Amino acid sequence: MTAIDVANGVAERLDAVRRSIDKATADAGRTDHVTLVAVTKTFEAEHIRPALVAGQRVVGENRVQEAKAKWPALREAFDDIELHLLGPLQSNKAKEAVALFDVIQSVDREKIATAIAKAADDAGRMPRCMVQVNIGREPQKAGIEPEETLAFVERCKALGLPVEALMAIPPVDEPPGPHFDALAALAADCGLKTSMGMSGDYEEAIAHGANFVRVGSAIFGSRPPIAG
Ligand SMILES: *Cc1c(COP(=O)(O)O)cnc(C)c1O
Repeated sequence: MTAIDVANGVAERLDAVRRSIDKATADAGRTDHVTLVAVTKTFEAEHIRPALVAGQRVVGENRVQEAKAKWPALREAFDDIELHLLGPLQSNKAKEAVALFDVIQSVDREKIATAIAKAADDAGRMPRCMVQVNIGREPQKAGIEPEETLAFVERCKALGLPVEALMAIPPVDEPPGPHFDALAALAADCGLKTSMGMSGDYEEAIAHGANFVRVGSAIFGSRPPIAG
């Protein structure tokens, strides 16, 4: 299959994911709206385009440089793109991130919160923010520890960051349900929404109260293994 053949399935898969989201939301007895963040990392503009043509506007990338290479041109072609940063941010990239992203989901330490606040102040443009929580307490994984989350959210707010949700990626080798519940409980304590659930578990995340789901491969197909 060529890249174009693969991309041709994108609109259909996007539609299927949207239907599954609607069904999971209704099945959970919810009447609120779940926001789909279509995760476009590693995919070329031509592969992403059918999703934009089909009306998808909320998109996520993991890396500042990759997003910077792809999205300015796509934004010229499509109005109202809402670009989310999902991957770890280095403080020396805060300026570029603030200029490019509408939402930064990966605020996870004081140094980054401070760098975003300063960059936003300089640029006169403040992205919406989410705090990433290391919900499974994995040593190698980014995110603030669960017990430090409330104090960190307060600190971010004191710095002027408009924190609206907690984001987490549960451990890959464990059932996600208990982690989704833990994140939802923590978010309720903080008075925030949740960003949780990916291609393999977004319906379950919705059953556990997810407000934002981040779905990549179920829409765009599988990614090269090293990228991400
Ligand atoms: C890649 C990624 C996703 C999407 O993963 P899929 O399994 O392809 O849906 C969601 N969230 C984050 C933080 C990611 O890095």
